[in-house]
Amino acid sequence: MSRDVPVVFFVYWYLMASVTGLHFDNSYARLPPELYEVVDPTPLDSPFLIALNPDAAALIDLDATLSTAEEMAIYLSGARRIPGAEPIAMLYAGHQFGVWVPQLGDGRAILLGEVVNERGDRWDLHLKGAGQTRFARGGDGRAVLRSVIREYLASEAMHGLGIPTTRALAIVGSQTTVQRESVESAATLLRLAPSHVRFGTTEVLAARNRPDLVRTVVDHVIEKHTPAHRGRYAAWFRDVVVRTARLVASWQAVGFTHGVLNTDNLSVLGCTIDYGPFGFMEGFDPSFVPNHSDTEGRYAYDQQPAIGLWNLARFGESLLSLISVDEGEEALEAYRPAFEQHLTLRVRAKLGLTETRPEDTKLMADLFDLLRTQRVDYTRFFRALSLYTTVDGTVPLALRSEVTDATALEAWLTAYRDRLVTERSRDADRQSRMARVNPVYILRTWLAERAIRKAEDERDFSEIEKLRLLLRYPFSEQPHSMEYTESAPDWARDLVVSCSS
Ligand code: AMP
Ligand code: MG
Repeated sequence: MSRDVPVVFFVYWYLMASVTGLHFDNSYARLPPELYEVVDPTPLDSPFLIALNPDAAALIDLDATLSTAEEMAIYLSGARRIPGAEPIAMLYAGHQFGVWVPQLGDGRAILLGEVVNERGDRWDLHLKGAGQTRFARGGDGRAVLRSVIREYLASEAMHGLGIPTTRALAIVGSQTTVQRESVESAATLLRLAPSHVRFGTTEVLAARNRPDLVRTVVDHVIEKHTPAHRGRYAAWFRDVVVRTARLVASWQAVGFTHGVLNTDNLSVLGCTIDYGPFGFMEGFDPSFVPNHSDTEGRYAYDQQPAIGLWNLARFGESLLSLISVDEGEEALEAYRPAFEQHLTLRVRAKLGLTETRPEDTKLMADLFDLLRTQRVDYTRFFRALSLYTTVDGTVPLALRSEVTDATALEAWLTAYRDRLVTERSRDADRQSRMARVNPVYILRTWLAERAIRKAEDERDFSEIEKLRLLLRYPFSEQPHSMEYTESAPDWARDLVVSCSS
């Protein structure tokens, strides 16, 4: 027994580090200097730690207990450089709301560096709200506390739902104020992702007629993330197409609407990035537009699948020095089947079905019609549906209370029951399968808003942590948390979010 102790101690010591002991290998900063600006963060006034996510810390082998909260606030907000970091602001451009913008870039975010953990995984440390860079275009380089809290919670919620996303490591608050619609307090979010290369990263290089740099970036991404595609650019592009299709399908399945699906907000790895005026849908509404500034509804929930493809087409055009037009088009053709296959897979799982049958298309279409016409709470409906049993056949109360027109529900349930009987579904098995894919908790806009108001008005950050813990395991009911499944209360009925952040 006693012989084991030093071994355990040694392993622990080897794996975990304090905030100044992280292991960096900054591969992007070694690429040609045209791809970024070397720039340090501008410190915030009196930074203090608001939230630190132990799950994200574990990804970079960071042991938060080895540093004080003050040290964490200073290093994780960029006020002091973490040893080994080489801060840069990345260059990119993009199509914003369909319009080509020749230069965007990290205007208020800085890539501090890339940490390699013990397992060899690489994580970008990307600091949002870090101050102005060459790409700020007149912006103040800051992010407001409310938007940072929303991103922190949304990315962890997305991860909890099993959807690829950036991860949120730390929120640091400050005495610095910034002007938006009103004066607000500035904060930083340190987030992690395997890469921050976006569709817009190659778009800007192609537009500047720099095929050499397009190749450099693509080679870099392939080498780092999918070395099997080395030199096979068409296959790599096809892979990005499929990953994006699956990502969008996953969003549709949980009712997530990104809000600003510009090409600069889509990752080449098919992971969710840049949470702004996003929304998780409550009452099912295909025309849901979370972004109050998106008056045309370009990025509505039901537009996301088509927008994903449109963005991939723009991205593909930027790769035409590496692939032929035919290869590009062929790759894009993979989008629709990949999207449909993945969405059907997810919806079938939500319904607890294990087999694929011809009548499923109608069963699903009828259900979504019912959800739409009655504005049924998307999340609670599926969770309550898992209570339904074929043996009993009656409508569970929790399900009944979600709809206004019981007749339509009963008609659909009859078809559902027949379908379950066809595949000899066993209630108990199906119920436990359904409970693993239909979340109890999502980040409802009002929940995020309540956490924000507590943080802003009372400097009480406990609600951020409470939500993080709920959303981390969204499929498990947790005690005393019933209200977190509820629809927006009166005070929050008319909440809107906009691009201002
Ligand atoms: P976003 O809408 O956050 O994806 O940002 C779009 C572009 O505007 C990116 O180039 C950002 O870096 C830039 N940007 C957004 N807000 C600011 C700000 N406050 N200061 C400087 N640049 C900003
Ligand atoms: Mg962005």
